[in-house]
Amino acid sequence: MGFSVLILGSGSALPTISSHQTAQIIEVGNQLFLMDCGEGTQIELRRNKVKVQKIDHIFISHLHGDHFFGLVGLMSTMHLLGRKKTLHIHGPKGLQEIIEVQFRNAGSHLSYQMEFHLTEKAGQLAYEDEKVKVTVLPLHHRIACFGYRFDEKEKPRKLIPRALEEYAIPTYARNEITKGADFRGEDGRVVPNHLLSKAAEPPKSYAYCSDTAYFKKLIPYLKGVDLLYHEATFLEEDQARANKTYHSTAKEAAQVAAEADVKKLLLGHFSNRYKNKERFLQESRQVFKETYIAEEGKRFEVGSI
Ligand SMILES: [Zn+2]
Ligand SMILES: [Zn+2]
Repeated sequence: MGFSVLILGSGSALPTISSHQTAQIIEVGNQLFLMDCGEGTQIELRRNKVKVQKIDHIFISHLHGDHFFGLVGLMSTMHLLGRKKTLHIHGPKGLQEIIEVQFRNAGSHLSYQMEFHLTEKAGQLAYEDEKVKVTVLPLHHRIACFGYRFDEKEKPRKLIPRALEEYAIPTYARNEITKGADFRGEDGRVVPNHLLSKAAEPPKSYAYCSDTAYFKKLIPYLKGVDLLYHEATFLEEDQARANKTYHSTAKEAAQVAAEADVKKLLLGHFSNRYKNKERFLQESRQVFKETYIAEEGKRFEVGSI
């Protein structure tokens, strides 16, 4: 099953020609989740040939404009394209009011239902299906702000076709075998599971931490994730500015990754005061070697970069 993160926007407040405000597509199996929706998200969705109507769940971390100014526009496009499926929007208090007031005052009646889900506390289960579970992470920013952690569920065991044939396993029994059961024939014949199937790959995990200062309480929530996205708006030389605005430096993001013992770190939300993004990489890698840089149009496979 595929599990990847596609970067649509890697910048912070001000959009530029080459960088958009924050947005990502998280693909789990054939499900697409949109994470934050800054200005320019629609353009990047098109550029990357993402089918917008496949997005059923949108998660918004907080109500600073660089994380949701693209949402009304995207929702409007979904309407113009004749969407019928319900759109689920997860975000903090106030988001529903902002969206509704826009459409109400425009006299718009969307072709689909929108359903809001309030994100309000760390540890809360935001979403769950048979493949993935999404929980809420605590962040420390100027206003209420939340991250989200995606955990794949245990995958079914993989059938060994040759063995199924050799032991003449009927089709009806195969589903139970993928769940770990031995085969028991009506004639009393028993074939142990390990001869018929092998373990699937271990489940993988991704954590998205948008705007936040370095936050100790976040660490336990991130333990061992395969890929951590953590904002790095500034470099250490601008630590004072980072503290004042409740943002992190590349070094602080690397410290979080090291303390949480994650496998890989992805940095983003860069201030456009720095022309050379390599500097983020250099600063972070001094503390945490497995660091990568978010860049528009780049896709990162969770569990293998
Ligand atoms: Zn931001
Ligand atoms: Zn913010």
